[in-house]
Amino acid sequence: MNLILLGAPGAGKGTQAKRIMEKYNIPQISTGDILRNEVQEKSELGLKVKNILDRGELVPDNIILEIIRKRLNQPDCQKGFILDGFPRTIPQAEGLEKILSEKDRKHLRIIEIYVPEETIVRRLSSRRICANCGKDYNLMLNPPPPDGRCPVCGGKIIQREDDQEKTIRKRLKVFREQTEPLIEYYKDKGIFYRVDGQQDVQEVFKEIENIISKVEE
Ligand code: ADP
Ligand code: ADP
Ligand code: ZN
Repeated sequence: MNLILLGAPGAGKGTQAKRIMEKYNIPQISTGDILRNEVQEKSELGLKVKNILDRGELVPDNIILEIIRKRLNQPDCQKGFILDGFPRTIPQAEGLEKILSEKDRKHLRIIEIYVPEETIVRRLSSRRICANCGKDYNLMLNPPPPDGRCPVCGGKIIQREDDQEKTIRKRLKVFREQTEPLIEYYKDKGIFYRVDGQQDVQEVFKEIENIISKVEE
């Protein structure tokens, strides 16, 4: 099963991808997580992309496609994968098609998680993450402990640089202009599903499970 989770920043892609990964035992591939990891490690790639991430702009397609090509070649992806935050542009979607073999493409399914923009601004303004392990906290949904330390790993819980309101608005604009066209692109191919991302995490997951069970038949 090869899934793409599509949706605006803050729609809940990462939250749902983790649940899908646990239940179906296929890896979550988050280009955002991979890039933030490179930034934290101050690798050559990390130094190159840090400012782009901080501004809420998109990293060039060729860099992203190289990351994905390498990742999808890993043994753990052979049974399937969940793409979270990729593709984000039409050229990325076209690049993905080249990377995947015919056999894999047969099972490619796209699920859009839809959430209106004002809800997104509220969610992302209250998102916090562990600087060390990346675990998600949210002032509204699952607040971090008072000492500001991650219960999982002891890391410091921080606000992402790009989760400031001004940058959130910028990311939403980038989404509308560069990523939203993917919806029509995939609808034309008849492999597209949409879920209402404003429901509780558990309700959204139930809808996704239903879609997956249909796909697997
Ligand atoms: P969110 O989950 O809030 O949508 P991500 O973690 O997916 O954010 O992405 C954070 C940032 O990483 C993006 O704003 C962008 O700069 C960069 N990025 C992540 N995935 C891609 C991609 N597929 N193409 C280009 N840039 C990306
Ligand atoms: P994305 O990966 O699409 O950027 P996340 O999964 O990181 O989105 O979710 C963004 C923020 O909203 C997180 O802090 C998360 O805890 C919260 N969140 C996710 N799903 C829901 C939901 N269904 N209802 C309320 N808050 C949610
Ligand atoms: Zn942690």
